Amino acid sequence: MTDAPHAPQPTGPQPGTEPRRGAEPQRAAEPRPSTTRATEPRGTAERSARPPRVTAHGGGIWSIPVPIPDNPLGHTLVYVIDTDAGPVLVDTGWDDPTSWQTLVDGLAACGTSVGSLHGVLVTHHHPDHHGLSARVREESGAWIAMHAADAAVVRRSRSSDKRQWLGYLVGKLTAAGAPEAHTAPLRAALADGSGGPLPGARAALPDREIEPNALLALEGRRLRAIWTPGHTPGHVCLHLEERHPEQRPQPGEAATDHGGGRLFSGDHLLPGISPHIGLYEDPDSDEITDPLGDYLDSLERIAGLAPAEVLPAHQYAFTGAGARVDELTSHHAERLTDLRALLAERELTPWQLAESMRWNRPWEQIPFGSRTIAVAEAEAHLRRLVKLGHAEAVPGSAPVTYRAAD
Ligand SMILES: [Zn+2]
Ligand SMILES: [Zn+2]
Repeated sequence: MTDAPHAPQPTGPQPGTEPRRGAEPQRAAEPRPSTTRATEPRGTAERSARPPRVTAHGGGIWSIPVPIPDNPLGHTLVYVIDTDAGPVLVDTGWDDPTSWQTLVDGLAACGTSVGSLHGVLVTHHHPDHHGLSARVREESGAWIAMHAADAAVVRRSRSSDKRQWLGYLVGKLTAAGAPEAHTAPLRAALADGSGGPLPGARAALPDREIEPNALLALEGRRLRAIWTPGHTPGHVCLHLEERHPEQRPQPGEAATDHGGGRLFSGDHLLPGISPHIGLYEDPDSDEITDPLGDYLDSLERIAGLAPAEVLPAHQYAFTGAGARVDELTSHHAERLTDLRALLAERELTPWQLAESMRWNRPWEQIPFGSRTIAVAEAEAHLRRLVKLGHAEAVPGSAPVTYRAAD
């Protein structure tokens, strides 16, 4: 099990975004054989002229592996849902010419086209999910729907300035105990004075809001929005309340029963990767959020749905959602126990805690930008410990230092 497939670049000024080259302290776990008919290539970006290997999941659902350039995740699985009003996408993929071409070719392989698209449902604002939404809307007139909390992040990224963001990041890292050497390049960039838009400045503002628990207005389909904050504040999973096409009703089961249906899980539930849980970076807010607490609650909500199959945004479709939720829950529980033990030995800043945590490679080998992500992950766990009453900040400490509590 690994953590944080999604890390911003070392100097990547946009809040909570996905990695580019080599910016992750973790890597995807080895893919396992899929339990579905998924045929997508594993772990490599589809960069050739070959048409993308589209997977038919049955019941009017397809997936297209849209490459994420120079990224160990390989690709985003963009899903196509057939509706009576035209095809609807779940996520769009990274904004890059190769990715766009793959999406266009993939839609053709599914027997449709970009121009025919009716709408786009965005699981969350990260650029490997929402990157191509603007272009899709431009070429098709499709609407874009997103949860309000992630729409707020998009709005903020569009209007923020690089200098503002760098200033926020330096302040935050310093408060977390980051050494001079770590913040020096950021401070240099800040002193250099070059402002300008953030990379997220071109992300599309959605036209519609995805409301938690509501059935989406999709003609001929039953798709319900499940709000699953944690990986981002407005992450949603989409529950297809329709029987899996390969699943027969059990004896005694009503014909209308969906047998658990299927779940588009975005980055919330992936078969072999533990999604990055950092902080909801909002320079304008002083609210002490608890993203890890949110994530664990959201996991429970998903397990309760007991979907017959999970259609995630990375890797491959899988069954056994409940078992996967258990694995992730234990992973975080173990992590919290380990961190509390470290704090019982001595008082630590979030930075020192991140240095002491177990990653999939030694701390010295974790690149600059990924350390920023690692410290956010450490802080998310600290917040949970504080909320549970197992840790506390040492009064008056600066940078803030934490110790174990009872
Ligand atoms: Zn993500
Ligand atoms: Zn992702």
